[in-house]
This record gives sequence, C-alpha cells and structure tokens, in this order.
Amino acid sequence: MRKIVLATGNPGKVREFNAVLTGLEVEIVPQSAFAVPEVEETGLSFVENALLKARNAARHTGLPALADDSGLVVDALEGAPGIYSARYAGPEANDRANIAKLLAELGETPAEWRGARFHCALALLRHAADPMPLICQASWEGLITFEPYGDGGFGYDPVFLVPSEAQTAAELDPAVKNRLSHRGQALAQLAQALKLNPLPPPPN
Ligand code: IMP
Repeated sequence: MRKIVLATGNPGKVREFNAVLTGLEVEIVPQSAFAVPEVEETGLSFVENALLKARNAARHTGLPALADDSGLVVDALEGAPGIYSARYAGPEANDRANIAKLLAELGETPAEWRGARFHCALALLRHAADPMPLICQASWEGLITFEPYGDGGFGYDPVFLVPSEAQTAAELDPAVKNRLSHRGQALAQLAQALKLNPLPPPPN
C-alpha cells in the first residue's frame, strides 16, 4: 500500500478520495498529519494552484502528493469567481455572502446568459521534482438561478441549476451529485489513470 499525501486538512475530502481510490493499493493521508505548512495559492488557474499545493505537500513529506483545486466559473462574469470562489465576498466570506454577491453581480442577466460550470483540477506528483505530474480535470455545466433552492451540499450548490436533473446541486441526492460533479468526474479519471499506471514503489 503506497501512501499519498492529500493537500488538505479536511477529513471529508480524505474519506471521499479513499473511497474512490479503493482497490488501487494507495492510502490517502491528509497533510495535516505531517504538519505541512499551507502554501500561498498564487496561481491564476485551478491547475496551477493544484500543482503548487501538491508540490508543497510532496516537498515537506517526501511522499507522493495529490491536491485538488476547484471553483465556479461564470460566463457572464468573465470566469469569476473562478479560483477566488471560496473568498469571493471577502477573505472571511461564508457561502451565504458569496452567493449574495454572485446573484448581485449577475443582477437581471437573463437565464440564457447565466451559463456556468464547476471546475476541478487534480494534480498528483510522484515526488516534489516530478517533471510529469498526473493532471486530471473535469467540469460540470449548469446555469445560475435567480435565487437559492435546496439546502443540501455546500458553497454555490443552491444557485447551480443542473439542467439534466431540473434541480440545483443543493437539491440533488448526494450520490447523484458525486457521480455528476466536477470532482466526481476528475476523481474517476484519476482512479482510471492510477489503474493503468500504478505509482512506482518507493525509492530505497
Ligand atoms: P475547493 O478548492 O474544493 O476548496 O473549492 C473552492 C470553493 O469553490 C469552495 O469554497 C466553494 O465555494 C466552491 N465550490 C467548489 N466545488 C463546489 C461544489 O461542488 N459545490 C459548490 N461550491 C463548490
């Protein structure tokens, strides 16, 4: 079983990743278990930030490292909130404030111009200097509603309408959300890639 350090302290994410990668002889452990210092997310794209976080975790642990970076990309707002999704309404912003700002920015923009997608980038580095990181990315297309619906999920889920289901992400059954979502799709790609190309054994 090879350990992969995940650049997060969130136990929910560790469980989710371990569940998807089950049977692949890897064990996901959070970087908080190694007291890895947080790295500044200075990238301008999801993939750049995922790489920065994974490289930081690999450097401080000597282990293969995985990081994810995700957010909401809204067409009518030139891709905002994008990589700033978590702190759109300010550094201490909560989900409610972020949603309020998003709806205010869109104003009366008509439904046909409210296209958006959640995007997830995953980066796996076999070691800190890995010149060929494994990158998996996926998007989940939807529309931003005029008001929030549903109380499941997190983040922008209540205003993200999934046209195929005629429900917002906050109204969806969690199992359906996991299957359709940007993170679910990117994780499925990662599982497939690791199945085809398992991690090499640790150096002696
Ligand atoms: P993270 O990179 O996974 O921490 O996501 C950054 C931010 O993007 C979160 O704080 C949310 O605001 C938003 N976000 C990412 N994924 C989702 C999702 O599945 N539903 C709702 N919001 C999301």
